[in-house]
Amino acid sequence: MASRAPETYRAYCTQWEEQIRAFIEMKLASDTAFPVVSPGDAQAKGLAGLPFAVKDNIAVQGFSLSCGSKLLEDLCAPYTATAVRKLEATGAWVLGKTNLDEFGMGSSTDNSAIQRTNNPWDTSRVAGGSSGGSAAAVAAGIVPFALGSDTGGSVRQPASFCGVLGLKPSYGAVSRYGLVAYASSLENIGILADTTARCRSVFAAIRGKDPLDQTSQDAPAEAPLLYGHDSGGPKVIGVLSAEAIAKALVAVAAGIEGSPGTKETAVQAASLEREVQQGFELAKTRLAALGHRLVEVEIPSLKYGVPAYYTIATAEASANLARFDGVRYGRRPLEAENPEDLIDKAREAGFGPEVKLRILLGTFVLRSGFQDRYYLRAQRIRMGIRRSFEELLGSAEYGISASPHCDAILMPVFPTRAFGRGDAGETLSPFAQKAADLYTCCANLAGLPALAFPVSLAGGLPVGVQLLGRAFSEATLLDLVEAYEQAHPFPHPAAYHAFWP
Ligand code: GLN
Repeated sequence: MASRAPETYRAYCTQWEEQIRAFIEMKLASDTAFPVVSPGDAQAKGLAGLPFAVKDNIAVQGFSLSCGSKLLEDLCAPYTATAVRKLEATGAWVLGKTNLDEFGMGSSTDNSAIQRTNNPWDTSRVAGGSSGGSAAAVAAGIVPFALGSDTGGSVRQPASFCGVLGLKPSYGAVSRYGLVAYASSLENIGILADTTARCRSVFAAIRGKDPLDQTSQDAPAEAPLLYGHDSGGPKVIGVLSAEAIAKALVAVAAGIEGSPGTKETAVQAASLEREVQQGFELAKTRLAALGHRLVEVEIPSLKYGVPAYYTIATAEASANLARFDGVRYGRRPLEAENPEDLIDKAREAGFGPEVKLRILLGTFVLRSGFQDRYYLRAQRIRMGIRRSFEELLGSAEYGISASPHCDAILMPVFPTRAFGRGDAGETLSPFAQKAADLYTCCANLAGLPALAFPVSLAGGLPVGVQLLGRAFSEATLLDLVEAYEQAHPFPHPAAYHAFWP
């Protein structure tokens, strides 16, 4: 255990922050800015005294709430999100607000209009996104945990890129009150953490029904207990086979209208790079060695995941972002001819290109006469995807579950490790980044919990995998990963320093 002197901690944060720029706002100078947990508290489930970071699309009173956007750069949150309030009630405190892709739209955090965040493992690479700031802050050891949001993978993918744990809870398990909405029916507040035990404590603190969010709910009585001492008992884990993935990719390509180049890019973008494939195989071997039974499964509807996700997400985004008009929220232009002109100018100046693209796409799929062709069709696909997961995992309504085949499903998180920015030629185009969401967006479409965790390092960069579970079975996923972590502790970047037990 290193020295815990406040100056040491502050200097540590400052040094890292110069390298990675994970925070949009950090309140380090305050008198309380010091981790007060002593090594003796290691057994404690408590979070008292621990600093944590919050993605800058989740409200914390008195802190910024920029959502990574020029439009909201000056906004100071007038209230605190329920999840943050619950964490503060345990004695944990907010160190600062972290960078993100504008409104959560992206996979690199480079879509932030505020700043660029670098990966702590290699600062020439992205931290992933959209919760890249939160993932980088945890990976660097600036905070032991952070909150992010996951609409289509935004907690799990940056967790994978940065070598930390990323939990996307079941839809409704955590209140979304105070989360700035991107695609309300898909998203969750999620957790980035240094250890499985920590992730469990944070989830225990923030979950549950909240009168301020009508979609939130308590776990059903039949759901596995979060502290049920079931740790790591043998489970049946469905493995999404490489053949199933390959089949899905070909079908994805066949469904894309456009030049052959576009098809190739989509297939290529979703194909696992060799190092990720090797990490996935390693996870299988290790889980089997821990006594679990692995069975190959197929998810035929997987191939429709990305088109359905982007149809629904952009449709909801176009409605949710309509509130940002420069009148109620946002920077108001100095001159305008009339109210419409004012709104036009505020949005033109305030939104970045990715956000504009998605609003346009969303209004396109929702325009009258075409809803059947796009939006309603995507909703039907979404039901199909949900059903295929339920067939494997059992129904979300525990009582009526037919005999499920699997306790969890092992999947890749993202086809690549952290990518670069083009200077070295190793980047991913915005189109390829979307096609690569294939593995993460299904959990959001189906409303299921998914836990991403690091398995290996390749070329100095972390590789992660994820386990998906039945609705409200976070405990099972955490048990599985906790046993895994005991056998194979998670890696840390050079210069990492553990300030917390
Ligand atoms: N990469 C996905 C997107 O750009 C996921 C984003 C998210 O989960 N917020 O929409």
